[in-house]
Amino acid sequence: MPAEHLTFFLDTMLGRLARWLRLLGYDAAYENEIGDWELIRRSGSEDRILLTRDRDVMRRWQIARGRVVAFLVSSSDIMEQIVEVATEFGLQPRPEARCPQDNSDLNTISREEARGRVPPYVFKTQKDFHFCPACGRIFWKATHWERIEQIRGRLA
Ligand SMILES: [Zn+2]
Repeated sequence: MPAEHLTFFLDTMLGRLARWLRLLGYDAAYENEIGDWELIRRSGSEDRILLTRDRDVMRRWQIARGRVVAFLVSSSDIMEQIVEVATEFGLQPRPEARCPQDNSDLNTISREEARGRVPPYVFKTQKDFHFCPACGRIFWKATHWERIEQIRGRLA
């Protein structure tokens, strides 16, 4: 499967990584109170790669026998974690980010539509705006762009 179509489910210790994968354009499910059993079951039924920091999860039979694809994230540093996962699965930042809060697809909105809904300085200096239909937030490139560029540099 091409890397851009991969989807993920992250364990409860990887909330920050989930947000970053979304900003990089990847479908990354995350629930902060999910138990191991449910995490494994949902990863399997939704055909997602399970990302975990927990060695015990990696020993569960569904994973040991390859029913569910899982990857053990070894670093505790967020930048290192992004690089680990991106290297393992050949991920490159995708052109369209997903909402870091809720993993939804973002819609592009015009500058006019963003007027009055973003801070005046942002309105003046930015031209591309995206709207999340799920949480109603508006995003613009500068939000996380510098760090995405930094990550892009590390993956090149
Ligand atoms: Zn949202």
